[in-house]
Amino acid sequence: MKVKFWGTRGSLPQALNHSDVTGLIGELLQESERLGMRTLRTFKLALEKGELGSPISYGGNTTCTEILHGDRQFFVDMGSGLREAGSFYMPTGRKEFHIFLTHMHWDHIMGLPFFIPIHVPGYTIKIYHVHRNAPEHVKINFNGVNFPLTWDQLGGKIEFVQMKLYEAMTFDNMTVTPFVLDHPGGSFGYRFEAGGKSCAVGVDGEFKRMSPADLGKDLAFYQNLDLLVFDAQYEIAELASRFDWGHCSPNIGVDLALRECIKTLVFTHHDPWATPAKLRRMYKVAADYRKSHLPAFKDRWNSIGQPEGPRLVTAWDSMVIDLDNP
Ligand SMILES: [Zn+2]
Ligand SMILES: [Zn+2]
Repeated sequence: MKVKFWGTRGSLPQALNHSDVTGLIGELLQESERLGMRTLRTFKLALEKGELGSPISYGGNTTCTEILHGDRQFFVDMGSGLREAGSFYMPTGRKEFHIFLTHMHWDHIMGLPFFIPIHVPGYTIKIYHVHRNAPEHVKINFNGVNFPLTWDQLGGKIEFVQMKLYEAMTFDNMTVTPFVLDHPGGSFGYRFEAGGKSCAVGVDGEFKRMSPADLGKDLAFYQNLDLLVFDAQYEIAELASRFDWGHCSPNIGVDLALRECIKTLVFTHHDPWATPAKLRRMYKVAADYRKSHLPAFKDRWNSIGQPEGPRLVTAWDSMVIDLDNP
């Protein structure tokens, strides 16, 4: 199973502007000078190998995550990252797309109007959802005013598929099951299982319920995951002033991962205001937190052969994690 991140921002896309790029080039040159590089060729090689830092940019598309297994591929959410995924798939001959929708906030649906397959006859797009009113609120943008085309004018065939909470849907040898996330208006995560691997998308979620008792039926969806895509929009110190905004922080993900044996924890849904420096700082704080809390869960992690505890990753646009070849 592979997980690809087409969009890792939350709330709103974040473009790189002229001063961001010049600032970035300045930092890279400074670092290459510090490392004693003398030629453009060494600089280019170091850049490609990630020796000057990786990622150079986290990217700015809103949330869209792809899960791949064998010939099957699924998207979770259709933020602005879906536009790029559409351009990628158009020349490949794939004619059918499956999209699981967590909820209908703007950052999760804004990519659909620009997903080329919806405009081309012969393409089928299936949108799976738990909210009963999802079709109405996805179609709302295609009213001829907010977007020039109306729903009926779209060339592709778009179907909505109502899912039942906690009930798995099977696609060949893969199952996908929705569970509840804590988010204003309701949001649903999805757990994917196939080939002995598991991955869940837990975005958007505030994770107000953390104890096993409070999580109730949702607890099982986190247990022993190979990978959890986690809503890490804010720094831990910011959470108190953002209560009920529906987003969480890396350290809380670390708590959950340590306790529930989640092997890889991916931080995403980055705040559009978060600079690369802030994202790196948030990662470091989370890694330090893992180090200080790991001893309490040592036996558990030793027994699964990962004594260092959960692997932590800050997602960036176009990042791929291959769970079969970690
Ligand atoms: Zn969001
Ligand atoms: Zn949301």
